[in-house]
Amino acid sequence: MEHFKCLIIGSGPAGYTAAIYAGRANLAPVLYAGMQPGGQLTITTDIENFPGQPEPVNGFELMERMRLQAQRYGADIRSGNVTAVDFSRRPYTVTVDGTDTVEADTVIIATGASAKYLGLPDEQKYAGAGVSACATCDGFFYRKKTVAVVGGGDSACEEASYLSHLASKVYLVVRKPHLRASQIMQQRVTSAPNIEILYQHEVRGLYGEKFVEGARLVRHTPRGDVDVDLPIDGLFLAIGHHPNTEVFRPWLPTDEAGYLLTTPGTPRTKLPGIFAAGDAADPHYRQAVTAAASGCQAAIEAERYLAGM
Ligand code: NDP
Repeated sequence: MEHFKCLIIGSGPAGYTAAIYAGRANLAPVLYAGMQPGGQLTITTDIENFPGQPEPVNGFELMERMRLQAQRYGADIRSGNVTAVDFSRRPYTVTVDGTDTVEADTVIIATGASAKYLGLPDEQKYAGAGVSACATCDGFFYRKKTVAVVGGGDSACEEASYLSHLASKVYLVVRKPHLRASQIMQQRVTSAPNIEILYQHEVRGLYGEKFVEGARLVRHTPRGDVDVDLPIDGLFLAIGHHPNTEVFRPWLPTDEAGYLLTTPGTPRTKLPGIFAAGDAADPHYRQAVTAAASGCQAAIEAERYLAGM
């Protein structure tokens, strides 16, 4: 069985940054890239808020550069999806693609989170062409345009509020007759002059030549559903994220949404030598730069842990 000093699971900004630091610390890290090599950023368009990039950088390209940087310092980047782990004893064992088992002294979990989607075929058809699950990432492209945000929780209200400062008009599409968000967030959206809340509406489809030009909704009424045509330039999903932590849940504590719990301000989990970085342990910020920072912290922690072994 192969044995590694430092095994990194996940290839978003957290995983690659951990690999850069662990490589430079001579830990000979091995990184399994997972189902979506490069992570969530590879499906966004231009990234304008990653420091050191004065010109917008394509998400895919940024992740490619991080991969090359990690490889340059000796990280062994492999394709493969971690399907099971055994954290009951050290060295820890990790199963890849259901077949290969490897062992490691330290494990950095950087498996990220995935935005929830409605499950409509049109969401895929218009991905990067008017459909987004991140207003902070893509909102800038909708300046003075009309957009809709789906969801009634804090995320949706936050996204709608953020977009209301950029777009000329924001519809908030809520399936229930009320919002689920906290009072303060509700107040923020109801007081914004350019946010209109469409209660008891659900998105059924999108249309448009190349980019989204409108959404087909239904409005639930006591007498049945009524079709509604909503001309928009962009649709933002804000119906929650789910952290990709399923395989770790038997071993590590999570919050009720499944985010891994760490010692506050550090990537340390309750198990020695196992660290969690990036969105898998972060329900709050979910930014590339914060994920990268926590990947750095995790690699430094792994190095210190190995030095004391
Ligand atoms: P939530 O689970 O709180 O809300 C999800 C929203 O999406 C709900 O309104 C839900 O509707 C709706 N929804 C879910 N599935 C669908 C669907 N298929 N079609 C239409 N609507 C759907 O998720 P959030 O991401 O908003 O929040 C997650 C956690 O993070 C919460 O605890 C929240 O408080 C916290 N948070 C806090 C923030 C802050 O304090 N500033 C900012 C962002 C998040 P329904 O109500 O009908 O189930």
